[in-house]
Amino acid sequence: MKVTCLGAALTVTGSSFLLESNGIHILIDCGMFQGSQEIQKRNRTFHYSPGDIDYLLLTHAHIDHSGLIPKLVKEGFKGQIITSRATNELCSIMLRDSAHIQETEAEWEHKRNKRRGKKGLPPAPLYTVRDAEASMHLFKPIDYGEPIQLTPQLNARFLDAGHILGSAFIEIWDHSVSPPMKVVFSGDIGQKEQMLVSDPTAIQEADFLFMESTYGDRLHKSKEKTHRELLHAIQDAVKNHEKVITPGLCRGTHPRTDLHPEPLLP
Ligand SMILES: [Zn+2]
Repeated sequence: MKVTCLGAALTVTGSSFLLESNGIHILIDCGMFQGSQEIQKRNRTFHYSPGDIDYLLLTHAHIDHSGLIPKLVKEGFKGQIITSRATNELCSIMLRDSAHIQETEAEWEHKRNKRRGKKGLPPAPLYTVRDAEASMHLFKPIDYGEPIQLTPQLNARFLDAGHILGSAFIEIWDHSVSPPMKVVFSGDIGQKEQMLVSDPTAIQEADFLFMESTYGDRLHKSKEKTHRELLHAIQDAVKNHEKVITPGLCRGTHPRTDLHPEPLLP
């Protein structure tokens, strides 16, 4: 088995891994590079041929993990995109939205070029809404814990990572070696005791673990400090006559009843 880290290196976006085993190519995540123009240049080229990829396993819907899927499909990927049901639903909104942004930015650039007297064809967007819609046909939603047989020798399982709705740790077993080898890709990892998503599942074992470490050098703030920050933000907004937009519940989502949060206001 060979694993190549394709993104989220020297920057925190563009998450993607390529796992190869006995001629099977599996991509784990296909994230967009976000940030400076220099970083965004990395979105232009895949370092593999999309048509050679057999499966894409998607940890969660955030664009830095899913945002290049329409480009992957546009450039020849025809395999299944296996992910949780909630990630499937979120991607159907977010990829279309991302495509709309790509199209709008290309239009703006074209107008800017024209204003500056530059001639030439309008710049092509990274992908279009139509590409995003086409990619949704390849999604295969699965349940947490459901056994997934990728090939006779490779199987996988998604477990709740507690990061956002639908987020998953992905476990992959390779039975072509004895004893079978287990590799785990964490995706982004959630915190415990959040109101809408479950606590991350405890992974018991792995031979190799590929783990996100974006905030690995920081300690989480205490709940009390977080509550105080929120309180101050709301008080500031009221004082300045600003609007406060808060997240609501998605369809089929219920706040956790096993938690008893402290009241925000003393
Ligand atoms: Zn994320």
